[in-house]
Amino acid sequence: MYGGGSRGLESARRKEAAIPAAAALQRIGRAAAAYFLPARCLACDLRPVERAFRGGVCETCWSAVPHPPDSRCRVCDEPLPAEGANRCGRCVIDPPPYRSLRAAAPYRGSARTILLAFKFRGADYLGARLAEVVVERLSIRPAAEERDHQEVVAVPATARSLRRRGYHPAELLGRAVSLHLGIPFAPRRLRKVRETQRQSGLTLARRRQNVRGAFRASGRPPRRILLVDDVATSGQTARECSAAMLAAGAEEIDVWCFARASRDDFDRDDSQFPVPGPPLSASR
Ligand SMILES: [Zn+2]
Ligand SMILES: [Zn+2]
Repeated sequence: MYGGGSRGLESARRKEAAIPAAAALQRIGRAAAAYFLPARCLACDLRPVERAFRGGVCETCWSAVPHPPDSRCRVCDEPLPAEGANRCGRCVIDPPPYRSLRAAAPYRGSARTILLAFKFRGADYLGARLAEVVVERLSIRPAAEERDHQEVVAVPATARSLRRRGYHPAELLGRAVSLHLGIPFAPRRLRKVRETQRQSGLTLARRRQNVRGAFRASGRPPRRILLVDDVATSGQTARECSAAMLAAGAEEIDVWCFARASRDDFDRDDSQFPVPGPPLSASR
């Protein structure tokens, strides 16, 4: 407790003034540490990385990004237990509006830690390299008819979440993918018109409800669109975004994402968001 009367007030005032100063000192301290100490990999927290000023991910972690399993649904990329089947049960019973969804990696190991750094630790500069992995792995796989996209669109965020994070991971990835492919990026094709809960931790039925009607398409979309997201779980967001663009006149949507969480991963990671560790001092 404070002394009371004006002394108490004075002390409270001093405390208030001290908070921004302490935060500023902390920032300076972190910047100094980033300058003098070798930066450690954001994914393994062990090996040094070359980009001393902004941190980054070491080559060992990049090359350890796991590959998807061989047997997958040819529509939604969900791993399939049985050899021979080519579509998962859900795509048979309730086919998605998109033509295909492909992921460069399963959501585990260094794919997961790199993605968490990209999404939750301010490591926005990882987008370019993530896009490289996506394009490298996915542009060789699609059939010829899946290559002729006229526009790249990213799964959008609301203005509020953009303000909170300062950047939008899916858009950074989408822009970088569009540069690699030489296909124009359409930043305003899709809008998220209301806030949704984070999909992880929700049951499939709740996910469906959660994102229903959350996206709007604007303008006249071209016929074939490549939709990009950083991570897909149930694919429900991709379904909603695709439906919105189809309703506006698009004809074929293919979805590319960096990582695919299988339906078994649904709830596992919820407690680990956001990833432990300090935000990066020098990131935007
Ligand atoms: Zn590493
Ligand atoms: Zn499927």
